[in-house]
Amino acid sequence: MSAALFKAGKARAEAPAFRERMAQLVAMQTDAKAGDAAKWTGACLDLMAGWLADLGFVHERHMADSNAFLVARRTEADDLPTVLTYSHGDTVPGMAGDWAEGRDPWTLTEDGPLWYGRGIADNKGQFLVNLTAVEALLEARGSLGFNLVWLIEMGEETGSPGLAEFCAEHGDLLKADVLIASDGPRIAADTPTLFLGARGGVTYRLDLKRRNGGRHSGNFGGALRNPAIELAHALTTIVDRRGAVQIPDWTPGEIPPATRAALEGVTPAGGEVDEDWGAEGLTPAERVCAWSSAEVLALHAGHPPAPVNAIPPEASAWVQLRYAPGTPDAGLFDALRTHLDAHGYEDVTITSDGPAFRASATPVDHPAVALVAEAATQTVGQPPAILPSLGGSLPNDIFRDILGLPTIWVPHSYPGCSQHAPNEHLPKELLFEATGLMTGILGGIAGLRPEDLR
Ligand SMILES: [Zn+2]
Repeated sequence: MSAALFKAGKARAEAPAFRERMAQLVAMQTDAKAGDAAKWTGACLDLMAGWLADLGFVHERHMADSNAFLVARRTEADDLPTVLTYSHGDTVPGMAGDWAEGRDPWTLTEDGPLWYGRGIADNKGQFLVNLTAVEALLEARGSLGFNLVWLIEMGEETGSPGLAEFCAEHGDLLKADVLIASDGPRIAADTPTLFLGARGGVTYRLDLKRRNGGRHSGNFGGALRNPAIELAHALTTIVDRRGAVQIPDWTPGEIPPATRAALEGVTPAGGEVDEDWGAEGLTPAERVCAWSSAEVLALHAGHPPAPVNAIPPEASAWVQLRYAPGTPDAGLFDALRTHLDAHGYEDVTITSDGPAFRASATPVDHPAVALVAEAATQTVGQPPAILPSLGGSLPNDIFRDILGLPTIWVPHSYPGCSQHAPNEHLPKELLFEATGLMTGILGGIAGLRPEDLR
């Protein structure tokens, strides 16, 4: 049966209507940072709401903290399970002029096996895959066999303003048994993947100022402290020479055995891995999906474009921590302060706005995970890769911690998609197969009881 649903979903995506809809979505210039964003935001939500209405969804619009939300609901029966899904219609800027072959970011362009366009991977294309899967399932069975609530926001690329407050206030509107949504990349284009959460992210600015103005590097060299050298040494206490985090409270401390088992045989980052980099004793997949990493995003001292013969008066570094679920995130700042003090770097000041994203994840051994994985296996004939957490960040914590749902993400993109850069694209075959996969996964929800998923 699931193989039949795969075929039905794939065939729908291969039909011309799917490509036409993709072109319509891409043509919406929903760059959340642009001056005329509001106009495109409204038009994009109109388009999406119209398609959902055709499938029997009733919808309402909301605003919270300047972010626009659409909540669409398709109700079949009160005693059936309810799935919450989530998409975002906003995109990063188009970056027109920087695309290869003079491609326009807001025009769907086909080149051999690839479809190009802003938002095709992140996240409009993934929305369309799931919409088409719902359509295919309805066509095949006449009903879904579950209730479906679709939450769409237009501010994900600017940090989802208002999303947490909106979900906290509208728990009744979003009431569900499980979140099944699509964003982010598969581990490889041809590997169906589930991920269950996301790492958190927080950036710290470190400054060390020794004096006002530079001093002659010859006349003072050897007499005066150089803050650039001192700060570099401070950084090596935070991360060792192979890139492993040295602050125990910045890590989850241990990786649960079920998480380890799920990551066995998984290659992260599309295979672009430095084997001898990162925490020792962990596999690359464990380092990205179940452990914390700290990166120096930028370093500054002196005047790099034209260095002068002087000891710079001050130095700065921007350190970003991506922390795995399980890391105690209330004490991250204090842990850094205590660590620097203990190593003699009391003079280094730390500034931070706190986590931009919080870590959260559904345990790999949650019953809903097994059910969705089984549906995927039945659909494509091979078990999906299951990542306990995405290396990157998503507003998963809002669904997991505020709405209290098991969270299962079925990503339809792949690591090479160039999201957030010029030339965003997806292989059309991936879109077609993902639609088949999603049709089978959703088809597997029918027949379950709500309590099977919670
Ligand atoms: Zn994005």
